[in-house]
Amino acid sequence: LQARREGVPSVRFDAAMAARAAERLALAARLRLALERGEFELHFQPIRDIGDGRIVSLEALIRWSPDNAGYVPPSQFIPLCEESGLIVPLGEWALAEAARCHGLLAERGRGEVAIAVNVSAVQFLSETLPQSLRALRETHALPRGALQIELTESAVLRSPESARTTMNELREQGVCISIDDFGTGFSSMAYLKDLPLDFLKVDRTFVAGVDSEERNAAICRALIELGHGLGLKIIAEGVESAEQLDWLRKHGCDQAQGYYFGAPGPLADLLRAW
Ligand code: C2E
Ligand code: MG
Ligand code: MG
Ligand code: MG
Repeated sequence: LQARREGVPSVRFDAAMAARAAERLALAARLRLALERGEFELHFQPIRDIGDGRIVSLEALIRWSPDNAGYVPPSQFIPLCEESGLIVPLGEWALAEAARCHGLLAERGRGEVAIAVNVSAVQFLSETLPQSLRALRETHALPRGALQIELTESAVLRSPESARTTMNELREQGVCISIDDFGTGFSSMAYLKDLPLDFLKVDRTFVAGVDSEERNAAICRALIELGHGLGLKIIAEGVESAEQLDWLRKHGCDQAQGYYFGAPGPLADLLRAW
């Protein structure tokens, strides 16, 4: 209290906080090393057209397997990478790996299937994204539509004007744009109306009870209607049952992904089971 009155910052820095900070620093350094050592990989989850069941795209989901001892889920390292800035080179790596994998798809006669890459706000707003994508498309001779990006509402809302500029450049290159986890952030109608988007991905928290809970059904019905009204396609995330899929089909949802169709896995496994 005395310190605050005298204008000295009154931050209390106790032993536990110091330990936590040290742990995070160590993990950030370890993640940097992991990128150098090539310990990250992409897994892929199919996204299917609800009408005909065909796989229309694959979502690329990053996996870290330190010392080949199982996978650490992205929720445990992506936020730290965003804080430390490692997300920019890591995101570049993910895009390059997705581009390489699209080449493998094309070799197997699946070149019409797009790969959707999650892009963090920091990376999206760094303004190097259109240039990186153009370089990758040239290096890997990717057709238009080969890559898509998934953004969260927060990435867009942080700076709607620069988001629009970047999106227009991506659109010109034939890169489609999805808003991920739609409905969980500050869903602003203003940006939806004005930005050049292609897909809304309805978050799985709403999809989970869509066939059994009226409140989730009401939200899903509204989001499908809203997206369609704006000329967007709707993708349902986290579909786990035939009942959920039936509900989504009846209500005009366009595409779906989830454990019902298959968990994310290595591209080789997916190609084998296709
Ligand atoms: P997301 O983009 O919303 O990805 C969907 C998440 O739902 C994935 O979790 C996926 O494994 C999981 N999922 C898919 N189907 C089902 C289902 O039927 N039920 C349930 N309960 N879950 C399902 P994952 O792989 O742990 O990724 C979590 C988040 O990490 C992603 O959410 C995305 O925000 C982020 N992330 C993943 N890869 C990358 C990346 O390369 N770059 C960036 N910036 N973020 C990434
Ligand atoms: Mg995603
Ligand atoms: Mg999502
Ligand atoms: Mg989600």
